[in-house]
Amino acid sequence: MKLSKIIICVGAAIASASTLFSCGDGTTFTKAEKELIGKDTSAAIMPLYTTDSPSETELLRKVAAPLTAKDITSDIYKVLRHRMLCTVNDPENPGVGIAAPQVGISRQLVAVQRFDKEGEPFEFYPNAVITSYSPEKKYGWEGCLSVPGQRDTVLRSTSIEISYNDELTFELRTERVSGYTAVIFQHETDHLKGVLYIDY
Ligand code: ZN
Repeated sequence: MKLSKIIICVGAAIASASTLFSCGDGTTFTKAEKELIGKDTSAAIMPLYTTDSPSETELLRKVAAPLTAKDITSDIYKVLRHRMLCTVNDPENPGVGIAAPQVGISRQLVAVQRFDKEGEPFEFYPNAVITSYSPEKKYGWEGCLSVPGQRDTVLRSTSIEISYNDELTFELRTERVSGYTAVIFQHETDHLKGVLYIDY
C-alpha cells in the first residue's frame, strides 16, 4: 500500500510540474502562498506546520480564508492538492486527513480519507463546513500531524452533515457522513477555524 502511494505521488508530480507558476491568473492566492505551494515539486511532501513553533502555531490558530471558483480551477490549486496528498501519505508520518493550514496555507481546504467508501480514497473538500452535528457523541482516540508526539481521546458526534463546493463545478454540495470518517471531518474542519483537538 505504501509503495503504491509513493508511485501515485511521483506520477502526479510529473503532471503538475509543467503547470507551475501562472501569473495574473485571477486567483486570490497571495504571492507568498504561491511561493510556498509552487516551490520544488520534486520534493512533493510539504513541511508540516506544528505547535512546536510559535510562528507556525499562529497560522494554525487563524481562521482560514475561503477559496473562490477561480482558485479551485487554477494550476496552483492542483499543485497544492497534489502536495497535500503527498504530505498526508508520507510513509514516515502518514495521516488519515489533512487541512491546508497544516502545510502553511490558511485556506478552507481539507482532505479526508473516506473509510466509508470502497478503496478508502482521499477526497478533497473546498470550503468544507459542518452544518449539523448529531446529538449522539462518542469518545475516540485522536492524534494530529501538527501536534507531534501526542494522542488523546476526544468526544465527537457520531454523525454529521457536511457542506462544501464541488471541485469541478463549484456547486454547493451537502452530504451526511457517519462513523470514523465523520470524526476525521470534524477534526479537519476544526483546523479551518483554528481549533486543535487538544482544545477539547
Ligand atoms: Zn490535525
